[in-house]
Order: sequence, then C-alpha cells, then structure tokens
Amino acid sequence: MGDGKGKSRTKEGDQPSNRRSGGARSRKGSSTPLRLDLHVHSSFSDGRDGVEEILKAALEGGLDGIAITDHDTLEGYFEAERIVREEGLDLLVIPGVEVSTSEGHLLALGVRKLPPSGRSADETIEFIRVRGGIAIVSHPYHLFRHSMYRIPDCDAVEVYNSKYVFGIANFWAKRMAERRGLPMVAGSDAHMARTVGLGVTVVDVEEGSDLGDVLESIRGGRVKIDSKRMSPSVFVSQMVRWTKKRLRRRLKR
Ligand SMILES: [Zn+2]
Ligand SMILES: [Zn+2]
Repeated sequence: MGDGKGKSRTKEGDQPSNRRSGGARSRKGSSTPLRLDLHVHSSFSDGRDGVEEILKAALEGGLDGIAITDHDTLEGYFEAERIVREEGLDLLVIPGVEVSTSEGHLLALGVRKLPPSGRSADETIEFIRVRGGIAIVSHPYHLFRHSMYRIPDCDAVEVYNSKYVFGIANFWAKRMAERRGLPMVAGSDAHMARTVGLGVTVVDVEEGSDLGDVLESIRGGRVKIDSKRMSPSVFVSQMVRWTKKRLRRRLKR
C-alpha cells in the first residue's frame, strides 16, 4: 500500500489519498484480503465516541481500514485522515458519508466533496460516481431506519448491517442484491467504538493497491462478508441507548 498510484477516473481534486503504509505487505502482484468496516458513525453525527477512539478500536480489532460515514458530513473522515497521518497509523481511511437522500440512506465512499442531502437516490448516485466514488445502499429494507425499500442502480448493497441481525431486513437485502447481481458488503453501522468491526467486508486487492483499487474491487464484487455476532452486553447497552433516545424524542414533542 501507499505507492500513490493514481486513478484517472477521479476528478475535481477528489483524488483519494491512501494513508495505509502497508510495511512489509507492499509487494505488488499477489492478492491480499483487506478487512474493512465500511459503515461507522462518530460524534460528528449521532455516534457516541470520537474519531480517535474509533480508530483505536479499529486497529485493536485487526481491521485494515475503515470508513467513518457520519450523517451528511465528511468531518469525521477529515478528522480520521488527519489523525492517521499525524500519528502514522497503519490504517486505510476511506472517505465516507451516509447521505440522507429523499428516498433513504445511501453510503458514499471515495468522495471528498459532500453530496447534497435531500436529492433523489439516482441524482445522489450520479453525484458520487462523477467524483470517482461508489454508492452503497445501506440497510435498504430495515423498518424505521430511513431505508429506501428498494435497490437503486448503485454499486453495492449493504446486506449485513450488524445493528439489525434480528428480523428479515438483512436477509431480504441479500436476496434482492443477488437477484440484481450486485456486490454485497457488510457494515457495523457502529454508533460506539466498541461495536466497530462487527460487520466486516473483506476486499480482495493486489499488494500495493491504493484506495482507487479498493473501491474498484468493491464495485467489481471481489468482496466477502465476515460477520461477528454482537455480545449480549453490547446488545443490551445499545437497546438502552436507543430506548432513551426514543424517550427523549417523545418528550420533546
Ligand atoms: Zn442509515
Ligand atoms: Zn448508519
């Protein structure tokens, strides 16, 4: 990693950076699996923990890379990139944001310009692709989660969201992605550092690849999913947090 090989399809200064040094693994040619969490929230949106804590959790959990995908802001990504650069961490930071389209949530990876919220899914996907990024529909069939309830013409589908392992949302997303022949990825959708890595996408890339190659591998379906079950204590604390949030929302009305 880290040889800075550029991709001509990126435009408008959106050239993805690659902060993963790779060390002994930078030999070009042979294939290597990268373990990535593509869906994480920090305190820049509704996550509990700060970016620094999240990065630490990612490294401790043996991840090779992470996308901080806060709601409608790239600030989490910029902060992560700064920390990784300044501290020389061996972690690939993928530019990411979870965009609130008019139809539901959509993950944008590989863009350094914020896609506007409130546009249609198709318009948002076009915005992302023009800038060299990829569009992944997140938790497409989960009830109450700003889901699209359809699979637009996107680059990949989140078929494993670690927050929604109960119910049929993940099952249905997988089924529809298979039917459409779209690449299938996982994400933890972590809202706290300790749940980072509960939904891992293993991406097959060549040694010495850069961020553009990683995105291309996802788009090309050279991915598999590694899902870890949430421990009961973490599940209970997530539920308590969710219930409190609902209660606060109700009290505000
Ligand atoms: Zn979402
Ligand atoms: Zn999310």
